[in-house]
Amino acid sequence: MVRVHVFDREGNLVGPVESPKVELTEAQWRERLTPQQFMILRSAGTERPFCGTLLDNKKQGVYTCAGCGLPLFASANKFNSGTGWPSFFQPIAPGNVLERRDTSHGMVRDEINCARCDGHLGHVFNDGPRPTGLRFCLNSESLEFTPEEELAKLADPAAASAAATAAQSARGKAGETGASAIAVFAGGCFWCTEAAFEQLKGVSDVTSGYAGGMPDTANYQRVCSGDTGHAEVIRISYDPAVISYEQLLDVFFDAHDPTQLNRQGNDIGTQYRSAIFYLDDAQKQEAERKIQQLTSAKKFGRPIVTKLEPLVEFYAAEAYHQDYARHHPEQPYIQHHAIQQVCRVREKHPGLIQQS
Ligand SMILES: [Zn+2]
Repeated sequence: MVRVHVFDREGNLVGPVESPKVELTEAQWRERLTPQQFMILRSAGTERPFCGTLLDNKKQGVYTCAGCGLPLFASANKFNSGTGWPSFFQPIAPGNVLERRDTSHGMVRDEINCARCDGHLGHVFNDGPRPTGLRFCLNSESLEFTPEEELAKLADPAAASAAATAAQSARGKAGETGASAIAVFAGGCFWCTEAAFEQLKGVSDVTSGYAGGMPDTANYQRVCSGDTGHAEVIRISYDPAVISYEQLLDVFFDAHDPTQLNRQGNDIGTQYRSAIFYLDDAQKQEAERKIQQLTSAKKFGRPIVTKLEPLVEFYAAEAYHQDYARHHPEQPYIQHHAIQQVCRVREKHPGLIQQS
């Protein structure tokens, strides 16, 4: 198995998900690939520069492995390197493209391979443009292109099974705490959102954590860098007989500012994005409805930028982040932000507050 990002039925890139490695015999590869593709992918060949069909492709879309269909590169990261081979400054997702040292032809180069079928793609060099400074130099023949409007065609079965497993494991955890439903929200700093939701009736547990990125970067230090794809999130275990998902959404939209893109006040970065990680279609539709409703009611002066993302996996944050506001009420940050948020929710939703 490999842990990679794939497309779901709606054309969203999701992951990481477990996908079986593609291992075929030489005869099977020859049957599946054209002679040109076989020469590149399975024999580590290189096509002649300025010959590849994808070199000048300027359409928006995604480049997948010609051997196994794994998404590898996005048009947004393509640039004209002048070398005669399609060039990208980064892969579409961490984990989908592997790098390994190649000392053939008397040179030391870093070979790049598809993580799922191990097909040879090209090489990576240190002379690329910003922001990565890398140049992934590809053979057109190792890739297939799918335009943006057809991304749903790339739907991978691993995406569906991963979503189902995530929903089930999240629900399992809810069962342990006596509630029967789960909601996962990102609304800026999790110390603050956790405190805002913990006071609600029908809520049995709120856990701070991370969602949206890879397992190996699901830790506070890495998430702080802002480049892991993770958001600071809270996982709410609640009893739908006492408080509904819609009521939780109402609190969510009052507890933070959903019009700020990738920030909440002075907390800046994609890890502070406003997002709803839905567990199933019902939650997704309800969230869409709520955003529509708030938009037509002109509740906010600016457009709502809250992202809807499928929950692939929730990673609990380090123990010292749990119940942070309760353990550190004297901290200036907590006094300014968390306590304000707690009070705002109490004022706007007095009927939803637990009587202690
Ligand atoms: Zn492949």
